[in-house]
Amino acid sequence: MAKIKCDTCGQEFYADEIISFTSVAGVTKVEHICFACEIKEEEAREYINFGDVARGKLGLQCQYASRYVHGLLEDWPNLGKGLRFKGDAINNYHSLLIHKDDVDEFVKRVQEFWKERERRI
Ligand SMILES: [Zn+2]
Repeated sequence: MAKIKCDTCGQEFYADEIISFTSVAGVTKVEHICFACEIKEEEAREYINFGDVARGKLGLQCQYASRYVHGLLEDWPNLGKGLRFKGDAINNYHSLLIHKDDVDEFVKRVQEFWKERERRI
């Protein structure tokens, strides 16, 4: 089993771990990517910036929308239960990511919470 250098992180790994082939305009390029980098790329494709979702779909700044993720403040309940987030909603909300398949559910929960709150006022 030969050791190969990962194209992304430069670490050596065994050749049979993961080797992916990308074909661009008919030219096949062999990529050597270690397992850890493959996982990171996978995550990067699946998680999107929470601030973009907050601004784009709720018209809220990331700083405020992240309160619906940690749920630590009064009147800002945790509406992210069971949904997939990455990053630190409390200390570094700019790093916060949300799984792309959970965006619609999160947006729906916030909008329903707002509607409910209006009814109570
Ligand atoms: Zn790597």
